[in-house]
Amino acid sequence: MSDKANPVVRLDDHIVLVTGAGDGIGKAVALAAAGAGATVILLGRTQSKLEAVYDQIVAASCPEPVIHPMDLATASNEDYELLGRSIVEQFGRLDVLLHNAGILGLLGPLQYASPESWMKIMHVNVNAQFMLTRALLPALLNADSGRILFTSSSVGRQGRAYWGAYAVSKFATEGMMQVLADELSSTSRIKVNSINPGATRTEMRAAAYPAENPATLPTPESLIPAYLYLMSQASAHLNGQALDARTLIGQLAAE
Ligand code: NDP
Repeated sequence: MSDKANPVVRLDDHIVLVTGAGDGIGKAVALAAAGAGATVILLGRTQSKLEAVYDQIVAASCPEPVIHPMDLATASNEDYELLGRSIVEQFGRLDVLLHNAGILGLLGPLQYASPESWMKIMHVNVNAQFMLTRALLPALLNADSGRILFTSSSVGRQGRAYWGAYAVSKFATEGMMQVLADELSSTSRIKVNSINPGATRTEMRAAAYPAENPATLPTPESLIPAYLYLMSQASAHLNGQALDARTLIGQLAAE
């Protein structure tokens, strides 16, 4: 039975890759996708965190996930290509790619941002997404109707003082989403969108707003209806859209 705020979305037989699956929003989405029947490829930086998510999924008798430790700050193009080939060999296809991993860096005036930090944020938040997408497109094209979901932010849609490279990287993410959505719309059935999760109770949010009481914020789990919907066939009409999780959840509940 579905209730209105949490419509039942099944992802049976779907192969779903989530980056940053060891913590925060990525962890919650990986667990929920597995709960909805998907085989989830857990990509992240910290192996012990990925193993904890793996254990939780297996303990819940969901499809056995795959752990793929990878540091997006240092991975080479060959690492991405190897991953793409191994997904095709093991599963034949990839149904969903969720670009969720990201780093914030130190907030402050652009004038005082360190070039090293700028480069690292742009690399993890933008270049890595490009390289991963490029390497996984052959697997995504093998799916009946692939989904690529980028993770944005309100500061990636309207610039804000002191958000520096993080905000700029999210603007670039929106640009990559639009270019890819337009390109693939004429050559494939892949849908490409971006989601802004909005303020959510995670380590990243706590780093950005140290004085805020995390208990006042929505949890990552509360975002699940939006993410599962965008991963599923139910959202086949959406392409090239910059979406807000909270707005979408409200719309789904009202349907
Ligand atoms: P967290 O910091 O809680 O989690 C980020 C995840 O990304 C972690 O699992 C982390 O791994 C992983 N990660 C970071 N760097 C790398 C790397 N180099 N290689 C591989 N994995 C890496 O963040 P959130 O869950 O809050 O954020 C998820 C997404 O949502 C981000 O893109 C963020 O920008 C976006 N967002 C979040 C908002 C919020 O309020 N929380 C608001 C708007 C957007 P590890 O655990 O090993 O460090």
